[in-house]
Amino acid sequence: MKIFFATLATETNTFSPIPTGTAGFKSVDYFRRDGSLSPGNHGNIALKEWRRLAEADGHSVVDSICTFAQPAGTTLRNVYEGLRDDILDDLKAAMPVDVVLMKMHGAMVADSYDDCEGDTIARIRAIVGPDVAIGLELDLHCHLTELMRTSATAIITYKEYPHIDVADRARELYALCVAAQQGKVKPAMAYYDCRMISMWRTTVEPMKSIVAQMKAMEGKNGVLSVSFGHGFPWGDVAEVGAKTVVITDGDMAKAERLAAELGQQLWRLREECFPRHDSIDNAIDAALAAHGGPIVIADVADNAGGGAPSDNTEILRRLVARGITNVATGCYWDPVAVQFCIEAGVGASFDLRIGGKCGKASSDPIDLKITVRAIKLNLSQGGLAGGRAPLGDSVWVSADGIDIILNSTRSQVFNQDAFTGLGCTLADKKIVVVKSTQHFYAGFAPLAAEVRYVAAGGAIGPDFANIPYTKRTRPFWPRVEDPFATNS
Ligand SMILES: [Zn+2]
Repeated sequence: MKIFFATLATETNTFSPIPTGTAGFKSVDYFRRDGSLSPGNHGNIALKEWRRLAEADGHSVVDSICTFAQPAGTTLRNVYEGLRDDILDDLKAAMPVDVVLMKMHGAMVADSYDDCEGDTIARIRAIVGPDVAIGLELDLHCHLTELMRTSATAIITYKEYPHIDVADRARELYALCVAAQQGKVKPAMAYYDCRMISMWRTTVEPMKSIVAQMKAMEGKNGVLSVSFGHGFPWGDVAEVGAKTVVITDGDMAKAERLAAELGQQLWRLREECFPRHDSIDNAIDAALAAHGGPIVIADVADNAGGGAPSDNTEILRRLVARGITNVATGCYWDPVAVQFCIEAGVGASFDLRIGGKCGKASSDPIDLKITVRAIKLNLSQGGLAGGRAPLGDSVWVSADGIDIILNSTRSQVFNQDAFTGLGCTLADKKIVVVKSTQHFYAGFAPLAAEVRYVAAGGAIGPDFANIPYTKRTRPFWPRVEDPFATNS
């Protein structure tokens, strides 16, 4: 059996001011034909699993491109088409193939393409014909479109947020697609539209139990796979929103029924699952009132992983204005400020303008008299599922009792080494503010006396009812109380 695989992924925040172009893809992850052989990084985790499994089973593999861009705004048309066509060209050259496995995000938008994944998979289907199994592994922050469903043999999304299960889902997709190609199963795949736009944290109940329940359904009674695509709220596309996916062995009616049952269960739990957020002052007050520390505060609206600039200054400004000390905060994407600090050197003190540079979502810059405490060129942090995430040239500066990490490769905070890699300690702090929505959780929960989530300004604010969509016309909660009241 010959197995073809590739990664082409980014999460597009259509409201972000940052264009996604060639540099966006090449600065994080870009491989051609050797991604699965390279050290573990964000985009190649699935590919490495697929190669390992295929070789163990005696199959041959064809490795195409592997590229993942840090989430930002809409991808340039020629950049998307170029990467897609690289995959299609490699596929044509590799034909005949027996199985195609694709790692994509599921929320990639390019100029003139609201559904890059559906477009790519449909073109792959046109090349390989109806009898080849095509598997698609997606982030759970995806727009599950009808074009994806009708073009792919099987779609599996992550189950965990934070996404610690990329490799687990890759293994399942491999097994399902190989079994389908061998005629052992006949996947029938159904969606259910939950008519909700929100976020779901799987680290806490009731989602923890829902994830366990989904896993328990799989592998018995003809159920091959169960996914919950949470959706990516900051994509202005017609099919944005939460959907469940169930794949059964040849029984579409059962797949539809189970997808609906799970979707309706999630609907009933919507208020319980709804992520609560503090105001900036509420979070600071709570942290100051808490015994011990550190209290980890997530600046959820300025998460680079959701396409935000990661240079919003609202929380920092408030900490300075209130005279709060013993704080560490990062990572502020500010290559200019980093350059100034590198030029000045460790120990230098001077007036530095920090953040607030990319657009309205960044708020205003803040001017502080800083001291450069440490400089690290090409810093990286532990990423999800064991990979490394680049931070670029980075500096630790302090001002007014606040330690601030500035970096030059835009990234959310995943792990403590984004700070400690520069020598900035965390365990002794009262407050640690991280620019991340939820992926920080696995790395910081062991440190935190408490975790709080703050909705400050930023490009991915969690006001789901009022995201200014122009393309989603169907009603959804929480914009309307009961989107199932009408049949539209
Ligand atoms: Zn995600």
